[in-house]
Amino acid sequence: MNSVIQQAKRIIIKVGSSLVTNDGKGLDATAIRKWAEQIVHLRSLGKEVVLVSSGAIAEGMQRLGFDKRPTGIHELQACAAVGQMGLAQIYETSFRQHDVRTAQVLLTHADLADRERYLNARSTLFTLLRLGVVPIINENDTVVTDEIKFGDNDTLGALVANLIEGDALIILTDQRGLFTADPRKDPNAEFVHEAKAGDLTLEAMAGGAGSSLGRGGMLTKILAAKRAALSGAHTVIAWGREDRVLSRLAAGEAIGTQLTAQTAQLTARKQWMADHLQTAGKVVLDAGAVQKLTAEGKSLLPIGITEVKGEFGRGDVITCIDSDGRAIARGMTNYTSSESRRIMRKPSAEILSILGFVEEPELIHRDNLVLL
Ligand code: GLU
Repeated sequence: MNSVIQQAKRIIIKVGSSLVTNDGKGLDATAIRKWAEQIVHLRSLGKEVVLVSSGAIAEGMQRLGFDKRPTGIHELQACAAVGQMGLAQIYETSFRQHDVRTAQVLLTHADLADRERYLNARSTLFTLLRLGVVPIINENDTVVTDEIKFGDNDTLGALVANLIEGDALIILTDQRGLFTADPRKDPNAEFVHEAKAGDLTLEAMAGGAGSSLGRGGMLTKILAAKRAALSGAHTVIAWGREDRVLSRLAAGEAIGTQLTAQTAQLTARKQWMADHLQTAGKVVLDAGAVQKLTAEGKSLLPIGITEVKGEFGRGDVITCIDSDGRAIARGMTNYTSSESRRIMRKPSAEILSILGFVEEPELIHRDNLVLL
């Protein structure tokens, strides 16, 4: 038995491009109709469901006659714009048969990094759920370039789980779940039924990229599970073509790989900071500061900083890295990048004489800091 989906009240379901478009042959109406039917069933059990669907680019490629994924960003964006019409249409039609409305929600990374837009997206999604609508989310591919992308919809699914405090994330994919090694290459590969989200050994097992249609391989799914676990959401990775997969999961059947969240839940504001995929700037911490942050639960003082990278303003979310470049924490800074450069390596008592004012003795106060 696998009760995480059975017990979950709010579920985010992510379906990948290969599944949605029948491996790039065009929208798989039968599969989509079946998922819609099952989602309607889940709702009848009292669950709220948000769907994150990929497939816009794959469907657009098909409609525009590309047989290979274009490399130019604008061609990809054009494909996404064309394909998204097909996605919206087929979901609306499939749910209409059950008298259920759908809503298209296209998000960018910048939307979720901006506190106000983040709160707006959150309120809109809650309102849609309250009105009994199934939100269908995708990345707003036409307006984003590589540096500001979520990158893949597995990550987007996890961020949505955090945004609306989902209890579970179901990632439907073209594989049955996670194996200890690549089952196509290693006959000793064993299926992983259950593990802890965030367990580092999983990342080693998951290896390389996914299919040529979607962006996410098994590794992005493992990382998405780790991310979703930050807000307490459990993840199940399962084969989307498995018969009645969603209804059976909801009935408590153990299907796919379950990655259980065990971390304590972050507060909403800390969650928002942790979910910044990119930040304007970084500060490099010396070993003492790393120790103070990670082991002693202390704030970040200017004296513990050895370098300031990038340009940022007061109140921006920045990343704290160690001398090897590993991200340790994220937090809201009390000083701009140029002020930080002047006060780094200095005791806080000297801030006044250096800058002529003191905002706070800390560069980042503990209450505004989240460990990664
Ligand atoms: N947003 C992209 C699409 O709809 C997919 C990204 C992904 O494959 O994860 O085609």
